[in-house]
Amino acid sequence: ADIERFQSRLEGLTVPEEAQTRIDEEIQKMQVLESGSPEYSVTRNYLDWITSLPWGVHSEDQLDIPRARRILDRDHDGLEDVKRRIIEFLAVGATRGDIGGSILLLVGPPGVGKTSIGRSVAEAVGREFYRFSVGGMRDEAEIKGHRRTYVGAMPGKFIQAVKDVGTANPVIMLDEVDKIGMSFQGDPASALLEVLDPEQNSDFLDHYLDVRFDLSRSLFICTANQLDTIPSALLDRMEVIHLAGYITEEKVAIAKHHLWPRQVERAGLKRGQLPLTDAALRHVIDGYARESGVRNLEKQLGRLVRKAAVDLLEGHEAPIRLNQKQVEDYLGKPPFQREKPLAGIGVVTGLAWTAMGGTTLSVEATRVHTQQRGFKLTGQLGEVMQESASIAHSYISSHLDEYRGDPSFFDESFIHLHVPEGATPKDGPSAGVTMATALLSLARDQAPARPLAMTGELTLSGHVYPVGGIREKVIAAKRARVTEVILPEGNRRDFDELPDHVRKGITVHFAERYQDVFRVVF
Ligand code: ATP
Ligand code: MG
Repeated sequence: ADIERFQSRLEGLTVPEEAQTRIDEEIQKMQVLESGSPEYSVTRNYLDWITSLPWGVHSEDQLDIPRARRILDRDHDGLEDVKRRIIEFLAVGATRGDIGGSILLLVGPPGVGKTSIGRSVAEAVGREFYRFSVGGMRDEAEIKGHRRTYVGAMPGKFIQAVKDVGTANPVIMLDEVDKIGMSFQGDPASALLEVLDPEQNSDFLDHYLDVRFDLSRSLFICTANQLDTIPSALLDRMEVIHLAGYITEEKVAIAKHHLWPRQVERAGLKRGQLPLTDAALRHVIDGYARESGVRNLEKQLGRLVRKAAVDLLEGHEAPIRLNQKQVEDYLGKPPFQREKPLAGIGVVTGLAWTAMGGTTLSVEATRVHTQQRGFKLTGQLGEVMQESASIAHSYISSHLDEYRGDPSFFDESFIHLHVPEGATPKDGPSAGVTMATALLSLARDQAPARPLAMTGELTLSGHVYPVGGIREKVIAAKRARVTEVILPEGNRRDFDELPDHVRKGITVHFAERYQDVFRVVF
């Protein structure tokens, strides 16, 4: 009976010769094996797998660009540049008649919509969607399957994916490709490339299946929080699309059009029962969900809805007006008081980029004593950052004349430079100008004139070099309500390319040399 069932599954499918031969062999084997024996069940299992695969089954692509745009717009507020890249990508596919054979990489902080964009792409082109994380993967077998000789052997994730969705050309999303590799058995990059690379994956050979399955018409979309840890062999084949994080205005729009209606509906309520004021929404964003993405915002809104639902069920009169006060009643006192950057002599605000998105970063310098010359650093600074601290120290010490600080200040100062929060590891050269400014502020005994944030690499000769993550950093400045920033001249183009609504309200100064920074700060 099993055998008939297996055979009937294959009716109408285009099974390649290699696979058909194997299936016939295994069926013959099964017929002679005793049905209670272990080999019987191994063979049966194998046949069960191989006959449930969608051999030659492909969904037909809908490469209708206006429709795709509508779907992307329906599901996502903002993200204009991301949508444009996706549309371009689909348009190229439409011209070629096929979008398979590509690897997209969506990279950005948590909760900015990477997974959600991937789903919309699948829907837009009318393909099945399958998603899994490669983040925790330890073993090549999770990708390529276990050989059948193992007890409990199974195919790898990709074969499981096509079986699950029932087509051989789904959109397969691989989350956390930046977190593969730590403690991976074997070489994760080459294992993944075998599956993702269009030159190799038409002959994809899963260890369990042991016959080839053509994956070349699948569309792969990877997601990651950062690029640094992605093996370069892999990165080279990917088409990278950045998602930088949202400013408050964008979060307000996303919450109003997507997150809030979804939460209200999920609780079985009507929006009229639970009016949320704009001020209250902003309060949730600033007070409880200060992040680059909107995942935590969505959670907090969910909490609000649930608390209100309970009150309504307990007889509270509808509607419950959610104003600022009501929000605090439901969510408690906000954990974030307004993130005011520290200020004072020797204290300067920098802008940093992390895998969680952009953030402001204070640099504090103080003179510990005057017995001997010296310099100490704390705050979990990586090697590159320590070097830029020592460059900043050398540069400022040797140019005190020019910047009208006490020329002998550092000769008789033991300086301590700290970057809070001390427990978070930090690295990179982009705090160079910030650290120099903190030291100069100390030597001049003068705090920066106004709230300002800055980023830029400083060289020993006082040049300011461009740095990465300008968009994330500008967003972080806005989140902290800093309206004036200093960026390297070399990043002028990055700034100019930001959308108008992100640039709006920010005064920017571009610095080519440290003198330019000095003139703005003091
Ligand atoms: P992670 O790196 O943690 O996997 P992610 O980038 O994949 O994060 P998503 O899960 O796609 O984040 O997004 C989190 C939530 O926010 C989802 O409910 C998503 O629909 C919503 N969301 C994010 N960005 C937008 C947007 N621009 N418009 C509408 N909804 C959005
Ligand atoms: Mg995701």
